[in-house]
Amino acid sequence: MKILITAGPTREYLDPVRFLSNPSTGKMGYAIAQAAQQKGHEVVLVSGPTHLTPPWGIQVFNVKSADQMHKKVLELFDWADGVIMTAAVSDFKPKMKLLQKVKKEGDEVDPLELVRTPDILFELGKDKKGKWLVGFAAESENLLANAQKKLASKNLDMIVANDISQQEAGFEHDTNIVHLLYPDGSEEGLPKMSKSEVAQILIEKIERKFAS
Ligand code: C5P
Repeated sequence: MKILITAGPTREYLDPVRFLSNPSTGKMGYAIAQAAQQKGHEVVLVSGPTHLTPPWGIQVFNVKSADQMHKKVLELFDWADGVIMTAAVSDFKPKMKLLQKVKKEGDEVDPLELVRTPDILFELGKDKKGKWLVGFAAESENLLANAQKKLASKNLDMIVANDISQQEAGFEHDTNIVHLLYPDGSEEGLPKMSKSEVAQILIEKIERKFAS
């Protein structure tokens, strides 16, 4: 299969040096890219800023902002058979980016005005063009109910839910505890395992469900 994978955080700049972001390291997405490539799939990775070395032989497009990730994913969508969005895309960006660095004079700054970024998966889900879509949902409460809602609202074929309230799961960890949810309401929970083991299982499930 031809698989488009996104990974890492996005950065939404306020001025040339400051940005809004999140602690995503990109580990889950890079592990999935590697697992998919090892199983003989063609993989393209669209990555926000990370400190990771891209897996050998995988084409990587580096982006920073949600808008840039959106544009690149749309460009590559026609090529792909399916998309796995692990990226922790910022939901908001500053309404304006200042051209010069903000000075620290005075005790207050004007309130930061934020606007929504594009919801990339939601956009893809509106017209799937026969491709399968897999999303991730990092939840701190009501894990399964919230993930099921996202699966439906974004028109996904699978969602990987992880409970970030648990120790050693989610952002910045090498392990993850995930549940896989499907549009027919079925669900399976996996025990705590390394992100590379999660990646291998996920690719096997995707092969079984979506490979023609
Ligand atoms: O709605 P929520 O942000 O929790 O959904 C998470 C899923 O949606 C992830 O797969 C993430 O990559 C994707 N997403 C996106 N564009 C956004 C926000 C999230 O594609 N602006």
